[in-house]
Amino acid sequence: MSTKRTLIVEDLMEQRLDIYEFGQGSPKVFFTAGLHGGEATGIFVAELMLGFLRANALLKGSVKLLPLGNPAAFRRMQRTSPYDELDLNRSFPGKASSTPTMALAEAIWQEAADADVIVDLHCCGVYNASYTLALCEEYPEAKELAERLSIPRIIQSSGAPGQLFTEACAKGVPAVIIELPGGGPAGVIDMDSAEECFEALVGLLRQYGMVEGEPNKPEPKHFDKLQQVAAEVHGLWLPRHEPGTMVAQGAVLGTLAGSEITSPVSGTTMMTRPPCYVFPGQPVIALAALK
Ligand SMILES: [Zn+2]
Repeated sequence: MSTKRTLIVEDLMEQRLDIYEFGQGSPKVFFTAGLHGGEATGIFVAELMLGFLRANALLKGSVKLLPLGNPAAFRRMQRTSPYDELDLNRSFPGKASSTPTMALAEAIWQEAADADVIVDLHCCGVYNASYTLALCEEYPEAKELAERLSIPRIIQSSGAPGQLFTEACAKGVPAVIIELPGGGPAGVIDMDSAEECFEALVGLLRQYGMVEGEPNKPEPKHFDKLQQVAAEVHGLWLPRHEPGTMVAQGAVLGTLAGSEITSPVSGTTMMTRPPCYVFPGQPVIALAALK
């Protein structure tokens, strides 16, 4: 079974969401992307999944796919809605007969109501490494879901209210975000990360016995919350490592105005600003400590 439905969310202006459904029954997997309009790598992965699901019948269970959750923000390649400037992924569970973004959130929340697990695809920026973001400490089922994904890093979320995955977890539905390099005002797609993420989603379906193929055994590493290292002076920043590099505490991360910047933790670089002139307060590196 395979269906496509278009939800039309009534408001002063119409918002159309294409929702694709494959198979029937449990487990019920819901993949979402494009809740932030400019986060193009996630949207691209959702389209890869759409092609995969059209070509490969499910052995059991069902997959619901929302490749583009915020079409108006996508049209502007921006995070927030151009209608009301609200952030859709801070608006769940939403409210019909409210602002366009709140109405959109409510419609997507209704679609998520029957899911057994939710994986929400996002972009973390063009200078970043991919990771699964999960409330591992709060929800063991979300931790288990994150560990089923062959994304090399799992980062503990701070859990902002109104996010689809945090609100779903609070309701008892395991949900995680996958953050992928790319996005930004140019809507950049990182092809290598997209391929890695696509394989991770197919691997998840294999582990649930939903599609043919040998189930994989991901071994992601767990990291603590992201922390940024900001420039304290202005000057030329020259990084030493690519995003996603394991570094020891005290390792040189780069130089700023000729002085070495060292890592306060043992862990991984998650964002590395490329060579550029920076000013005080601007982040040059984001790190996550190994758990
Ligand atoms: Zn996002």
